[in-house]
Parts: sequence; C-alpha cells; structure tokens
Amino acid sequence: MEGDGYGGYRTRLVETLQQKGIRDLAVLRAVGTVPRHLFVPESVRHRAYEDVALPIAGRQTISQPWVQARYLELAALTGRERVLEVGAGSGYQTALLAQLAEAVFAIERIPALAQSARAALEAAGVRNATVLVGDGTLGWRPFAPYDAILVAAASPEIPGPLVEQLAPDGRLIIPLGDRNSQVLTLARRVGEELRISTVADVRFVPLLGEFGFTS
Ligand code: SAM
Repeated sequence: MEGDGYGGYRTRLVETLQQKGIRDLAVLRAVGTVPRHLFVPESVRHRAYEDVALPIAGRQTISQPWVQARYLELAALTGRERVLEVGAGSGYQTALLAQLAEAVFAIERIPALAQSARAALEAAGVRNATVLVGDGTLGWRPFAPYDAILVAAASPEIPGPLVEQLAPDGRLIIPLGDRNSQVLTLARRVGEELRISTVADVRFVPLLGEFGFTS
C-alpha cells in the first residue's frame, strides 16, 4: 500500500528479514506490500513493523514476521495455488498468502477475531481470501483439496482431516509439540507418502479443536 506513510517501516522490516535469512523474493515483496499496521490493535500499532509477535484480541497473537515469512518460503507458492490457513488470527498472514496464491481460505475459531480479520483484509484491498469461522482441525472440505495448508497454532500431531485434504504434491506446515514448545514441521505429500522434515524451534498458541488440543 503505497503512500500510507508506513512504506519506510515496511522496507526496514524487509531488510531485517533478509538479514535473518529470508531469501524468497516473492515473500519479501509481499512483506514489503501488505500494511501490517492495519492488522494489529491500536495499542501496539507503533510496533507493527518490528520483527516480533504482538498481542491481538481474544488472548491470541499475531506471529513474528520472520516466522510468517519462513512459513511462506516453505509453502513455495507460484501464484496458482488454492491455500488453506488454519488460525487466521489477525488476518495478516492471510493477506500475505493472498499476494502469493490464487485463492486463500482461512479458518478462525474465535468469531470476533474472524470478523476483525475480514475488516482488515477489506481495508487492505484483499479480494482473493475468505475467512471462515470454525474448527480448523477439521479442515474445510467444500474447497478441498489444497495445494498448501498452513497451520498457525501448535498441535500434538498433524490433524488427520488436513492430511486428507492435501492435494498431490501439497505442502502442510505446522508447529508440532506440546503446549510450551514445538518444532515447525513441513509435511509434503509425495504419492501415497507424507515426507516430514523439521525446520526450527518455535512457540505458538495451542490449536484447540477435535484433532488438536482438546482443552
Ligand atoms: N497467522 C495469524 C496472524 O497472522 O495473525 C496468527 C495466528 S495465532 C498465532 C493462532 C490462531 O489460531 C488464533 O487466532 C487462534 O484463535 C486460532 N486457532 C486455534 N485453534 C484453532 C482451530 N481449531 N481452528 C481455527 N483457528 C484456531
């Protein structure tokens, strides 16, 4: 969003992410374009372009930009994909995905967060993303299969319905572990197989639902 007064801050955030090892130019371009300040509460707006996680409503967080950029690199999108995001939160990652894929379906379990994510996406001019309310551990069958599934909350294991809804050659990115610490994990569907690799230690809020943490 040019001319909104935040362009210099976005450029500095892009430089920070490059220094921290983010190389994918399309991802860096998306970070340099999406107005992150529209997705954070007024009280922390002055910190919108720092490379830190920030609190949002419902005792949730908007993740650290470096982590979000890493997810996007792992998703390796070309612009033609249909993507499922589980845990829309503020809608910021949804907006980044919308720059990099054809269509984005984002599920959020807290209705008030889904509502403010929709408003922020509209304010940011995003047209190819839909925010749905529900338990994202079940995926969203009407729009499946998905070329990439990004789960932005911690789970003890990969929810079965998400594996079922992953397209051939699809990529699923999820933090796996207990409530206190997790490992960011990439699962790739290769034929009938799911090839798993681990990426980095991370800390996310829990994925609460039928196939995640149950309480
Ligand atoms: N990517 C988000 C952003 O850019 O703001 C941050 C996501 S935040 C770390 C995790 C989100 O997952 C929270 O908003 C939480 O309410 C949501 N969540 C947790 N369990 C969920 C579930 N079963 N289905 C959908 N959303 C869920």
